[in-house]
Amino acid sequence: MGSPYKVTEFKKGFWIIEEDFVRMFLAEGSEDALLIDTGLGGGDIRGLAESLTAKPISVVNTHGDGDHVGGNGQFEAIHMHPSEYDYYLFERPERGNENLVPVWEGHIFDLGTRCFEVVLIPGHTPGSIALFDRANRVLFAGDTLQSTPIFMFGRGRSLIALEQTLNKLLNISGEIDTIYPSHGNLEESPEIITGMLEGLKLIKSGSVEGRDIEEPRPCKLYDCGGAKFLLK
Ligand SMILES: [Zn+2]
Repeated sequence: MGSPYKVTEFKKGFWIIEEDFVRMFLAEGSEDALLIDTGLGGGDIRGLAESLTAKPISVVNTHGDGDHVGGNGQFEAIHMHPSEYDYYLFERPERGNENLVPVWEGHIFDLGTRCFEVVLIPGHTPGSIALFDRANRVLFAGDTLQSTPIFMFGRGRSLIALEQTLNKLLNISGEIDTIYPSHGNLEESPEIITGMLEGLKLIKSGSVEGRDIEEPRPCKLYDCGGAKFLLK
């Protein structure tokens, strides 16, 4: 079997790793490297990351959905916000929590020449986080900011929290040029935040109807133009 990963060195010291429909990111600084998410777990993501950079690699999960944490067992330490632990372990207790290391709002992954700051962005999941590289004006937001439909039903997900998160992100949007989502378009502009807020408003006011869909799971798709949400 070949490797399930497609690797692109998008910029020097910044790799995009695609596994099927999900994306991971590896960034290297002068001292350390940071791997954002571990994908579906279909291959040796650790071996791949270590073949790309010789720097010590820290690993962080944007959130605990299965397509972002599949390779977690390959690493001794996985940084995750503690608000996500229950969600992460509930569906698959066999994952274990031995390698979880808490990261909190404001924590900085200092790679030497690059820094990533943790921003807590609950909604899609209770302990979703974004990684904000303020100096380079880029934000890695997991599944919270994307043009493809965002899962918003089931345990731990909250539209109320998502709305507050979007307003929080709107406040820093002037410091962001590019958003890197885990699905869909590789890059989004910060305008997506406003688009998603408008979408939520349409849903709240009942001015958009959900359409029954079967795939990826039976639910209702709310297509609000710039933003799409999956709800029950
Ligand atoms: Zn995802």
